[in-house]
Amino acid sequence: MGHAQAVRPSAVCHASASAEEGWAEVAAQPSRWRCDDGGWSLSDDVTLIRFDLGDAPGRTLPQSLVTHTGNFERIDVGIIGADGSARWSSIGPADTHHLAAGPYMVVPVPGVTSETRTIAVAVVRPWGKTIMSEMRLDAYPEGSGWPLQRIVAMAAICGMLLVPLLINTAFYSVLPERYVIWHLVMVAAMLVQAAFATGFVHIFVDVSALWEWQASNLAFAAMAGAALLFAASFIEAGSLSPRLRRMAQQLGPITWLVGLLACLPFERVRPYSSPAMHIAIALAIALLAAILWDARQRGSKSVKLQIIAWLPIMAIGSWRITAYLVPSLHPTEAIELYQLALALEVLVTALGIVSRFVDVRQERDRATARAIELEGVADRDPLTGLRNRRTIEQRFDRLFERGFRTMAVTDLDHFKDVNDTHGHATGDVVLRAAAAALLDDRDTKAIRMGGEEFLLLLRGHDAAARAERCRQAIATRIAAEVPGLDRIVTASMGLVEHDTRGNLQIDFAALYARCDQLLYEAKRLGRNRTMREKVTGFEPAHRAMA
Ligand code: GH3
Ligand code: MG
Ligand code: MG
Repeated sequence: MGHAQAVRPSAVCHASASAEEGWAEVAAQPSRWRCDDGGWSLSDDVTLIRFDLGDAPGRTLPQSLVTHTGNFERIDVGIIGADGSARWSSIGPADTHHLAAGPYMVVPVPGVTSETRTIAVAVVRPWGKTIMSEMRLDAYPEGSGWPLQRIVAMAAICGMLLVPLLINTAFYSVLPERYVIWHLVMVAAMLVQAAFATGFVHIFVDVSALWEWQASNLAFAAMAGAALLFAASFIEAGSLSPRLRRMAQQLGPITWLVGLLACLPFERVRPYSSPAMHIAIALAIALLAAILWDARQRGSKSVKLQIIAWLPIMAIGSWRITAYLVPSLHPTEAIELYQLALALEVLVTALGIVSRFVDVRQERDRATARAIELEGVADRDPLTGLRNRRTIEQRFDRLFERGFRTMAVTDLDHFKDVNDTHGHATGDVVLRAAAAALLDDRDTKAIRMGGEEFLLLLRGHDAAARAERCRQAIATRIAAEVPGLDRIVTASMGLVEHDTRGNLQIDFAALYARCDQLLYEAKRLGRNRTMREKVTGFEPAHRAMA
């Protein structure tokens, strides 16, 4: 590869022809030639291109033709002398040499002398317009591509594509959302496409023109399809019209299908392959624009970054597509701007994904906090602030295992009379005072079972004694905190102690039922007392009245 050295022809003109027409025949009809940039077409079998070299002395002589990589059937090159003599040669796709510094292929043009006046080219059945529109003469037999600065810049841009690839892969493990996958697909396709669009792929492998054509079509289709599916899954539910979301979900796979069909290597497909790809991508851009617009109108939070990400690439893409599809315009790839916009898109979108990750994280933390708060409220009895029956039923087995093997059920004596005499409100105050008299510490769990009945779960060597102290404290506490009561409000208790060394398992309901029986007995025996029982093994070993 040499440095770009321009060979300036005095004119470049082109004409469409059929496969049967010869060069001389068309050359004789000046009205069929146009000498500007536009008017390239894939619908004719042959496009003739004429480079007039002029006869200025000291001019640089061309040694090759360099043009945009693409698939074609044949390229004929004729070297026409001042005397009208012509020497023709033909090459097929396999005979071209591909540069690794730009998306270019080189067609050798040997034997040009100062006597040469015209380089005649016949491009037979090309698959892309740019094979013709980008064709230029080059001063070096091996052709010249991009200068070094441009190669470095493009390599840096391609390197930028790797960043989101790594970020997304890392994020997927903590944010397993579909849009992360679509963005990954999109970035991977961009990398493939960039490898071909920059020619860098030729540093690593020798790919044929057909293969290259197919790979870049597939990469383009994958990119556009994944972009639509990404948008459909990334924009928040409720911030996008369901119809647009559905359309994106349908057009995505359709774009892939068009990409596949555009790869079929049949002459029937050739004139439509490239335009179909451009139209499919144009539709994808239009739908994406509609999605961004709609999401913005609906106040989507994530769409702002998406607009920044997509605007440049949509603008450049539209320009490229327009230039390609409108016959009078000169097709342009704007490769540097385009790749820069691609890199911007993926970086900004990767940022959007990170910001979504933070949002999801915050949302989850808030939800967790709310759940904890609700649970806290749901687990507590609102009147006394003690744990309620539900919590103790859930946690009993664990507590029992951790040594809480003494259960005491206590019930206020003649509480109905308190309500009847002093009113329900005073009754509530009495209940609160009773609850406050109960210990609730590392070794004692106090629960309001309902009404004026409380349950204590205790551990430690003096568990029974502590429970008894609690029972007695109830009366004292009520007397101190509720003035104006006409009596002492006492409590009765039923208590079962388990041998802490035994590994007897018992379920909550059975133990509670036993305590309740003892409580009933305490009531029957005159109230304001505790009935207790000590269990070792399966037999109640010892029964005592306090
Ligand atoms: P005993 O000594 O046999 O236990 O007699 P008692 O009157 O305490 O027994 P009973 O179970 O018949 O009465 C319980 C009363 O507690 C009935 C109900 O009105 C009252 N009660 C239940 N829950 C509440 C409450 O949240 N607030 C108030 N103020 N009273 C309640
Ligand atoms: Mg009672
Ligand atoms: Mg009761």
